[in-house]
Amino acid sequence: CGIVGYVGQRSALDVVMGGLRRLEYRGYDSGGVALVHEGEILSAKKAGKLVNLDAELAAHPLPVAHTGIGHTRWATHGAPNDVNAHPHLDATGRVAVVHNGIIENFASLRNELEARGHEMLSETDTEVVAHLLHDELERTADLSDAVRAVCRRLEGAFTLVICDADQPDVVVGARRNSPLVVGRGEGENFLGSDVAAFIEYTRNAVELGQDQVVTITPDDIVVTDFDGRPAETKEYHVDWDVSA
Ligand code: GLU
Repeated sequence: CGIVGYVGQRSALDVVMGGLRRLEYRGYDSGGVALVHEGEILSAKKAGKLVNLDAELAAHPLPVAHTGIGHTRWATHGAPNDVNAHPHLDATGRVAVVHNGIIENFASLRNELEARGHEMLSETDTEVVAHLLHDELERTADLSDAVRAVCRRLEGAFTLVICDADQPDVVVGARRNSPLVVGRGEGENFLGSDVAAFIEYTRNAVELGQDQVVTITPDDIVVTDFDGRPAETKEYHVDWDVSA
């Protein structure tokens, strides 16, 4: 229900957890984070309020990393438990995916993946995205290309935010019928389901259109459509009060 993504110089965990707290007003039943650290995805997720995730992170601290994503879930497919909480990873643990919305054709995608030998751990519609990305990343080394290819196969409503163990300093987002905004910083950039996610750090935002993919690195924001064509974006300044 809330989504945050970060690349820059700060502690990604601090930025992501702070953003999730600012999005708490949306309501949720589980929370989770993933960081890219030394070629690995490190993640933590927990059913219940963010204090449960805080406790998990206190018991099993994650190292400082500068690329990360986070999610608060409002369960639609699968009970609100630790396994169904986001992020969802592919079987090799290379990519981590958080998702708001519903992937309408997930059952047929899941059948197709299982027929190819993929094993799902959760009951969510989201997990198929991680597995589809795994397969796309065997064809293309580029995460953004892989995300576009997967988006072309998805039906329904989705905001997706993804990181890749092999591509530090990159977070990719995508949206269809579900909100995603970009926060433009200096030497850092942000993604959020709402500007509240990053308002503490920047009021410069980029609005994404329907069916677009955004790739953020510390110094760049690149937006395309699902076919990879450069997309027009609208920059704006958040000059209203965001109270969450
Ligand atoms: N459909 C997904 C799930 O049930 C995402 C729900 C959400 O928007 O938080 O896990």
